[in-house]
Amino acid sequence: MLLSDEPIIIDGSHGEGGGQILRTGLAMSAITGRSLKIHSIRANRPKPGLANQHLTGLRAIQEICGASVEGDNIGSTSISFSPSNIEHGEHEFRVGTAGSITLVLQTVLPALASVKGISKISVTGGTDVKWSPPMDYYRLMLFPLLKKAGLNCTLKIKQRGYYPRGGGEVEVGIEASGDFDQITIENSDEICKVSGIINITGLPAAIAERIRGSLIQHLPDRYSSITKINIDQMKKGPSQGVGVTLTASDGENILGASALGERGKPAEKVGKECASQLMKEIEGGAGVDIYASDQLLPYLAFSEPGSFYKTRTLTNHTKTNVWTIEHFLGEIFEIDEKPNIARISKR
Ligand code: ATP
Repeated sequence: MLLSDEPIIIDGSHGEGGGQILRTGLAMSAITGRSLKIHSIRANRPKPGLANQHLTGLRAIQEICGASVEGDNIGSTSISFSPSNIEHGEHEFRVGTAGSITLVLQTVLPALASVKGISKISVTGGTDVKWSPPMDYYRLMLFPLLKKAGLNCTLKIKQRGYYPRGGGEVEVGIEASGDFDQITIENSDEICKVSGIINITGLPAAIAERIRGSLIQHLPDRYSSITKINIDQMKKGPSQGVGVTLTASDGENILGASALGERGKPAEKVGKECASQLMKEIEGGAGVDIYASDQLLPYLAFSEPGSFYKTRTLTNHTKTNVWTIEHFLGEIFEIDEKPNIARISKR
């Protein structure tokens, strides 16, 4: 659907000034058919420009929508992207480092979701790495949320990948109807289920047990009978590491939190960090956690008018993503921000 030959021009240094402006911009360009130019890419990051993860995402969306691209090299701070039609199919993408697999998916999923069809996407890279959603966050949180909007995604984690060597391997199945149902996510209610996955590869199983103990210790006693935490252990892998993702559900909404192990960081601290983050979301009372809030926006943009969700606070990522999407679609979001709660709706 080509609306105009004029490219949309986006300043990548705006707001958060990170990789998300690029990912969302590319997805929106593919969906709307509008060409895109982005300059000052990741200007607010210590090493600006395209890193491996961003370049893989760019190549991935290029392949999916047959785009012509300029500026697609490591370190590049400006790109031009002219999309053609989005097509479903089987694709394989390799980040090559521990660059985040979920962030590569963040570029291609909204585009594939916008067109009816079935895809199988294999990605190698990091499954559990800093400053990005862990793979289990997609499994326990984002995919169930998207299912409510009519997008069916399946996930197979064949291998975990951690910093610095990566080597994780996942396969994502996508079945899209091409339409999004109404999204209505109110405040969260009484929590009736807490689920968690501790992933551990190449490290002693006792570390995972200590994380589990710490999670239980730092969650309220009233949750003990509704909490189930599984350990996903691989004895060996291309890289070693440990991480945890927790979700809390009120039967309708799901809130998520996560934490990663690091050399020198005690297992008890990993558990405490994750449990505290989850409690912050539960006590905030909204139906969507602060991370899902920015990640849901491209889907909210194409859902039925009147769709909305509530989150406890507007992050810089959320505000910047609104700004990026509105370059393509005009002022489609309405934001009602009150102390400790924000409502984001599609006009
Ligand atoms: P850069 O490479 O420029 O530092 P980036 O590519 O890592 O940036 P950001 O612009 O910082 O990307 O966006 C990070 C994305 O990862 C956001 O969508 C954010 O919600 C998500 N994210 C970060 N940490 C978590 C987490 N712990 N759980 C879930 N999602 C997360």
